[in-house]
Amino acid sequence: MHELSITQSMLDLVLEQAEKADASRVEKVNLVIGEMTGVVDDCVQFYFSLLGKGTIAEEAVLSCKMVPATARCRNCGKTFQPKEFDWTCPHCGKSGMEIVAGQELFVESIEVE
Ligand SMILES: [Zn+2]
Repeated sequence: MHELSITQSMLDLVLEQAEKADASRVEKVNLVIGEMTGVVDDCVQFYFSLLGKGTIAEEAVLSCKMVPATARCRNCGKTFQPKEFDWTCPHCGKSGMEIVAGQELFVESIEVE
């Protein structure tokens, strides 16, 4: 998967923010990960520790908030959780929907010392 490059850009962002805040250590990174990104939080934690070695974010703990995939039916306007291969609306039985949640992937906040 693409966790490695994603984690690298997250780490860059975290270090940039920490530097701005004059931090000596990054303690915690709060992440928001949408289910549809396919990103696995364990992998991100693993890569983060790996890539963060030797930086002030070396010992940072990642806290990941997973956002479930949510779709809205274009026909009836109701929201539902799409299944992997079946994106038919369970309310009206029609297909045609837009994803309204689950594609998020960002650093929500960081906690520094
Ligand atoms: Zn519908």
